[in-house]
Amino acid sequence: MRSHKVIEVRSLTPSTYIIKMEKNDFLFKTGQYITLGFSGNIDRREYSIYSSEQDDFLEVLIKEVDEGLVSKKLKRCKPGDHLDVDGPFGHFSLQENEIDKKKFLFIATGTGISPIHSFIATHPNMDYRLLHGVRIEEEAYERESYRNENYILCTSRESTGDFHGRVTDYLKQNPVSSDTVCYLCGNCHMIYEAYDILEKQGVSLGPIHTEVYF
Ligand SMILES: Cc1cc2nc3c(=O)[nH]c(=O)nc-3n(C[C@H](O)[C@H](O)[C@H](O)COP(=O)(O)OP(=O)(O)OC[C@H]3O[C@@H](n4cnc5c(N)ncnc54)[C@H](O)[C@@H]3O)c2cc1C
Repeated sequence: MRSHKVIEVRSLTPSTYIIKMEKNDFLFKTGQYITLGFSGNIDRREYSIYSSEQDDFLEVLIKEVDEGLVSKKLKRCKPGDHLDVDGPFGHFSLQENEIDKKKFLFIATGTGISPIHSFIATHPNMDYRLLHGVRIEEEAYERESYRNENYILCTSRESTGDFHGRVTDYLKQNPVSSDTVCYLCGNCHMIYEAYDILEKQGVSLGPIHTEVYF
C-alpha cells in the first residue's frame, strides 16, 4: 500500500470528478486499475487509471454513486490530503504487438471511458473508433481528449449526442468488421449485450476484451 498526495480535484459534472495525485514511483500498464481510499481507512474501491503511462501524475475519473460510500467520500478530498493506493491490478491491457497494426473499437458506458482515455493518451496514434454511451451530453467527459471524427457520443435520454440511443443500438445499425479488436468497459448489461452483437457480426472471441465495473 502506498500513500499518494492529492494535487487537484477537477469537477466535470455535479457528480463526476477527476482526482489528480502525485505519481511517486508508481508504475502501471495502461488499462489497469488501482484500489483507492482515504489514508488509514479500510473502505476502498477499484478505479481505472485515467492518466497515461508517461504522465508524471496519476489520475482517476469517478462518478459519485447515489447512496455510495467511497465515491461520495472521495469527492470531498482536497489538495494535500493523502489517499491509499494499492495496485496496479487487472489485465484490461493492449497487446504491444497490435498497437500500431490493428483497428480498434472502444466501447464504454459512463466512467468506463477512463481506461480508454489512458489507452489513447498513452498511444495517441492508434487507429481507433470510440463509442461512448451516456444518458445526457454533459457526461461526454473531456471529449476534447479524443479525435472528434473518431468519437461517437451515444446519448440515451436526449438527442444531443452524435447518435440518439444506446451504444448497442448504434452497433446493431453500424456493423463492425471482423478484424477489429474490441475493448468494452463499464456496466455489465451493456457488456453482455454488446458482446453478443459483436459475436453475431463475426468478431471472434479472441479480440474482445472486457472490464466490468458493476
Ligand atoms: C475493475 C473496476 C474498475 C472500476 N473503475 C471505476 C472508475 O474508473 N470510475 C468509477 O466511477 N467507478 C469505477 N468502478 C466502480 C467503483 O469501484 C465503485 O463500485 C463505485 O465508485 C461505487 O462505490 P461506492 O463505495 O461509492 O458505492 P457502494 O456503497 O459500494 O455501492 C453502492 C451501489 O452502487 C452500485 N454502483 C457501483 N458503481 C456504480 C456506477 N458507476 N453507477 C451506478 N451504480 C453503481 C453498486 O453496484 C452498489 O449497488 C470500477 C469497478 C471495478 C470492478
